[in-house]
Amino acid sequence: ELRFHAGKIEFENVHFSYLDGKEILRDVSFSVMPGQTVALVGPSGSGKSTIIRLLFRFYDVKGGSVRVDGQDTSTVLQASLRSHIGVVPQDTVLFNDTIRNNIRYGRVTASDREVEEAAMAADIHDRIVSFRDGYDTQVGERGLKLSGGEKQRVAIARTILKSPQIVLLDEATSALDTETERNIQASLARVCANRTTVVVAHRLSTVINADQILVLKDGQILERGRHEEL
Ligand code: ATP
Ligand code: MG
Repeated sequence: ELRFHAGKIEFENVHFSYLDGKEILRDVSFSVMPGQTVALVGPSGSGKSTIIRLLFRFYDVKGGSVRVDGQDTSTVLQASLRSHIGVVPQDTVLFNDTIRNNIRYGRVTASDREVEEAAMAADIHDRIVSFRDGYDTQVGERGLKLSGGEKQRVAIARTILKSPQIVLLDEATSALDTETERNIQASLARVCANRTTVVVAHRLSTVINADQILVLKDGQILERGRHEEL
């Protein structure tokens, strides 16, 4: 049984290809100290989301290793690994269930009050209570439709409630209006505070605030450093 405490992340000489065999990541090495934020930047297709997927172990590496708190993630039960990691994907897909259960998915024992507090911190509470059935509103084909930004804030609420040591964020590339943008940034800052964060960054503000920036190109790290160094 593994024990993650701090949330240190290490990629060591990682090589990766999907099923078609084309090399997607080549000799990628970096480490993130507990509580720090690393921002991944680079052109479309350079391998940013792939790094996030490897950390969550959607796939296994083809060479090298991914370690969390010194433990090779390939030797750890997937469920155990994932219980310590929160993910806010580029395009959040919600479950066909109530909003409450969608938020509670991160920690099924959470009370209604805790669910609501997480929703407030993610700046989605007001929107939820504006529905006739509030938190009991069904999400799904015939249920309510939420915008991309709203769905992402539900995923942020879920992550706040889960309170994992590690947060993986794939920032939305879609243009958001200024107020939504500000709200999302504020709630993201809340979810990342004091947690190890790997963020695929499309926003300059995210890059500026990162402890370390990795510039990817064609699956390799081209440059690394803080914003003022690059
Ligand atoms: P974007 O900024 O557009 O999100 P990205 O840097 O996140 O790009 P990745 O999604 O990591 O890029 O993809 C890296 C490369 O891997 C791309 O060439 C992509 O076409 C390829 N790729 C991604 N997913 C798969 C898959 N499931 N099977 C095969 N190739 C894939
Ligand atoms: Mg991507």
